[in-house]
Amino acid sequence: MKIAIAGSGALGCGFGYHLQKSGEDVTLLDNWEQHIQNISDNGLNITVNGIEDNQTMKICKPNELNEEMDAIFVFTKSMGLKAMMKSIHHIIGENTKIICLLNGLGHLQTLEEFVPKKNIIMGTTVWTAGIDAPGITHFDGQGPVELQNSVPEEKDAALQIVDILKRSGLNGVYSDNVNYTTWRKACVNGTMNALCALLDTTIEKVFATSTIDSMLSAIVTEFAAVAKKQDGIKLDVEETVTYLKALAEKVGAHYPSMHQDLANKRPTEIDFLNGAVAEASKRLGFEAPNCQKITDLIHAKEDILGIQTAK
Ligand code: NAD
Repeated sequence: MKIAIAGSGALGCGFGYHLQKSGEDVTLLDNWEQHIQNISDNGLNITVNGIEDNQTMKICKPNELNEEMDAIFVFTKSMGLKAMMKSIHHIIGENTKIICLLNGLGHLQTLEEFVPKKNIIMGTTVWTAGIDAPGITHFDGQGPVELQNSVPEEKDAALQIVDILKRSGLNGVYSDNVNYTTWRKACVNGTMNALCALLDTTIEKVFATSTIDSMLSAIVTEFAAVAKKQDGIKLDVEETVTYLKALAEKVGAHYPSMHQDLANKRPTEIDFLNGAVAEASKRLGFEAPNCQKITDLIHAKEDILGIQTAK
């Protein structure tokens, strides 16, 4: 299968590497000059769960690829998705499947501006990845990658992608309710990520504070209200808080990605997490004051650090 990875940063390189190793015809797409240069000259250096490897890979800018793809995995940050979709229109055919595993909310609606819903496969992943230097990445975990077609008639297409992910060791799993998984993952990012970024500490330390229970239930209650009213998804607040606490015990002394974004002076995805909940609640006729305040505080931190955001 001809596969493009639209956004070949941390996660994109890890997915591209695994897919190519299992025999797929993969092209990495990015616009980061030094990263493209290093991968073109030296191959991709990648460490997967502590094991180093080097793989020759095709990589170019989106406008330099001139072939229709069978499938495209989008792997920008949330705020880059629209620009990426504009720049890859020429490699999208009538049946090209777009697979979206980004964190955050509202991506299906963005993708529908560019491709028919029948060709969109939504999902979540719990693989983790990072970039150590241009052309040098690491990729960790066991997965899974949960996927579901966006219209009922396209289940076979989603199953085909699940199968490819399984064969490549990425642990693809078909989900009957990926919308629920997406909301639950958004709760993880909207609590752990946002609080660690604001309090400038690890998950372990945030979850040991005396105010953790009230912070978690205040945020999750707002996510659950929007999930129910907007998407008909039932997120049980108590069960979600219990899940978050159990997860926090497993990940422990880790700085989540939003903390790392601020530390590296990069914009965060807050507008697609707590910010999306605050915006949606207004549209739906109620308020989400905790999510609004968290979003304002993260943007204030971005301003103080001189980070340019798209807001
Ligand atoms: P990243 O910033 O490492 O990679 C994004 C890449 O996209 C960058 O290399 C950037 O240059 C490229 N890009 C952006 N816009 C582009 C454009 N218009 N044209 C060409 N290239 C473009 O991000 P990441 O960490 O891989 O995360 C991607 C998504 O996956 C995010 O939504 C993130 O929250 C989610 N996610 C990440 C992890 C992780 O551990 N890194 C885990 C789960 C989910």
